[in-house]
Order: sequence, then C-alpha cells, then structure tokens
Amino acid sequence: MMGLASDGGLLVPQVIPDLRARLKSMRGMSYNALAFEIMRHYIDDLPEKDLIGLIDTSYATFDHELITPVKSLDNFHVLELFHGPTLAFKDVALQFLGNFFEHILEGSDARLNILCATSGDTGSAAIAGVKGKARINIFVLYPTGKTSPLQERQMTTVLDDNIHNISLNGSFDDCQTLMKSVFSDLPYRNQYQLGAVNSVNWARILAQIVYYFSAWCQLDCPDRFDVAVPTGNFGNIFAGYLAKRMGLPVHRLILATNQNDILANFFNSGRYQRGDVHFTHSPAMDIQIASNFERYLFYEFGQATDKVSDFMSQFQSTGSANVNFNTKRHNEDFLAGAVSNEETLQTIKWCHENHDYLVDPHTAVGIHVGRQFSEPGIPLVCLSTAHPAKFESAMQTALPGVTVAHPTLSALMDLPERKQQMEVDEQAVKDYLAAHAG
Ligand SMILES: *Cc1c(COP(=O)(O)O)cnc(C)c1O
Repeated sequence: MMGLASDGGLLVPQVIPDLRARLKSMRGMSYNALAFEIMRHYIDDLPEKDLIGLIDTSYATFDHELITPVKSLDNFHVLELFHGPTLAFKDVALQFLGNFFEHILEGSDARLNILCATSGDTGSAAIAGVKGKARINIFVLYPTGKTSPLQERQMTTVLDDNIHNISLNGSFDDCQTLMKSVFSDLPYRNQYQLGAVNSVNWARILAQIVYYFSAWCQLDCPDRFDVAVPTGNFGNIFAGYLAKRMGLPVHRLILATNQNDILANFFNSGRYQRGDVHFTHSPAMDIQIASNFERYLFYEFGQATDKVSDFMSQFQSTGSANVNFNTKRHNEDFLAGAVSNEETLQTIKWCHENHDYLVDPHTAVGIHVGRQFSEPGIPLVCLSTAHPAKFESAMQTALPGVTVAHPTLSALMDLPERKQQMEVDEQAVKDYLAAHAG
C-alpha cells in the first residue's frame, strides 16, 4: 500500500517470474484466469481463493465480457482498455487496487485516507475504485475550472460518504504541491494514515501487466507482436516491459508521446532532458518527468541502484542526464516517436474515414507512431487508453459534425453533485481532512 519506498525510491519486485513454459497453457484463458495466473507469481501473502475473489469483483464492473477486447482494423489491432466505469485505462488498475486495499485493511483492522491530486483522469478512476469502501476515504484535490466539465462531473456526482472532492482555486501544480507538502508532514501523515494511489504504486503496474498477455491470447498467440503505447508517466508501457521480461513474445514496445517528448528523445539518443510542459489534445500525457521511468533505469543499469541514484541526482540538479547508449541493443526493446497536435487530429480523422472507428486523442498518438514503425508480417497492437467521448472538444475539432457520445457520460449532466470549494491553503485542507477522516 506504500507509494514510494521509505528511502524515497520506487519499489520493484525481487524477481521477475519467467512464464515462458506456461505461455501455451494461457491460450483460451478468460481475462480473470489470466490475471490470476500472472498476479499469483508476485503475491505470496494472500490465499489463492482471496486473490481470485478480488479479481472477479474488480472486473465485474467492466461492460465487455472480454474486459479488454481487441478490435481488429485492416492491418493493425486496437486493444480497448476503456470498458471500465470511468472509460479510461486507469480503471483496469484502480478497480483492482480499491478492492485489494480494502481486503488488506480488513485483515489488519486498519483504515486509510487517500490523498490525491488530479488534473482529470486519475481522480475519477481512483474515486470509482474506492467508492463505498468502509475502511477507505479519498480526498481529491483538483483545480477549479481546469478540468473538463465532464471530468469534474465524473468525480463530483459520486455521492458516497467516503468520497471528498475538493475544488481548489489554483492550478494543477498548486494541487500537487499542496498534496506533497501534506505528505511531507510526517506526524500528520501518520496520525491520519495517509496513503497515495498515484501511478508509481506497484499494485497498479501489476494489474496492467495482465492485458498485454490478454492481447496476445486474443491474437491467437503469434510468434511475436509489436505494441504501441501512448505514454505519459511510463506506467502503462513499463507494465509491457515487464510482460516482455516475463517471456511474452513482444517484439518491440513502441513508445509514443505527444509534444512533451522527453521520453521519445531519450529512447532515440540516450539523453534525458527536461523541457517545458506543453498543453496538447492528449492532456493525460502532458508530462515532462515520468514518475515510473526510474524503474526502467534500474533494469537498464543492470540493477545497480547506485547508478540509478547517480543518474537521478544528476538529472535533478542539472535538468539533464545521459546513459551510455547502445542503440542497437536498445532498439531491440523500444522504438519511440513524438506526435504533434496536428498529427493527432489527422490520425483521428484517418481512423474515422478509413476504418469507421473513433479513437480518442491519446490513442491517436499511439496509432500514429505505431504505424510509423510497424513491419510487414508482425502484428501491431495499439493500446487504446480512453473512450473518445471523454475528450469531446478535441473530437469536435478533428471531426466536426460527428457525434461522439457515451451513455454513461451523457447521464452525468442530470445527476446531483457534491464538492467542497477551497483556496490553496494547506492548513484549510488539513483541517478538512482531519474533520472527515473518520
Ligand atoms: C494516464 C493516461 C495515459 C498515460 O499513461 P501512463 O501510464 O502515465 O504512461 C494515456 N492515456 C490516457 C487516456 C490516460 O488517462
């Protein structure tokens, strides 16, 4: 349940299980059976039947029987990760995490207060993951007027007692800074059992490994396949990297960024250099410092933690750091590219005109780069991270006059809301949390 390790680093598994010998037996398994087959190698302190129960409960909220279905277009495939309650791929991890945390808290008769800062997608998925849980409260900080009205309503229309939406009169950075500051007050953090669910949480990565295996099974177990991943914090694609190391025959992981291209540049040059944040049509990827990247560096440096530390300190103090790059070896795992706003809109249009298929702007970024690198004879799977109706205004710009809707989102407009409006004032937020922590 801890986000960061106690020394401020990230947690990684002691060993990555090798499932090569078990791949054949996965053919035809249901999503939930696959999830159990994969997660059980990483979880040794839960009875099997408890883990199976948690998986079944978590994915019962999805609206497709395959949970993450593959949709085949002419010469590539789309893995739809948006069939959960908030219509974004974050549900795959956060539905599981909510049930998993509640189960552990029950076992130890403990409680947890989750504090979360969001610019949109994470907050609603985290709320959907923990709503109604008896031992968990969640306090979500978001910037007033800076999320889309739909995103806000996905959070504020959840009226369960354990859900607290706090609209802060400031920017997303203000929300994040305030959250970090509350976490750094250790006596307060311990007194109120504060926890986090951000994307460095190991349980989130674990749950995301499963759909890479599911995609391979749905393609009828090819000898190898490429996967294109629209990337922000490097959580999603890192799960794919683990799947590959576990023996799944992923040929290339194709990393796609928007104009915030620090990671694409790294994989093309070995140089990791911070830039300014650009606001794009794919806001969930408007990130410069990818919080999970450090995990990849650990493997890149042959599990030498001192080298990871040196790299990260150099990056923190100078804004840039290099690895001694062997491009050839590198390109065996990763290929990378960045996409402009214009190309994103063109790809949405291209998918609609050529395949009669609607993709959201994040997915479009992945498709654009994936197709650039795809090779004849190797199936390409593009991960689709959100339902297009979540990003109405970009869809309107790309496809004027085309209706892009989803009944879950349309229904939100008529539901009652509850939220707390506050100034960016750390003490006020702490007092509110203390009063509602239960
Ligand atoms: C969070 C998010 C991403 C980025 O995923 P990472 O794991 O941070 O790389 C991409 N698309 C959508 C729609 C998201 O919500």
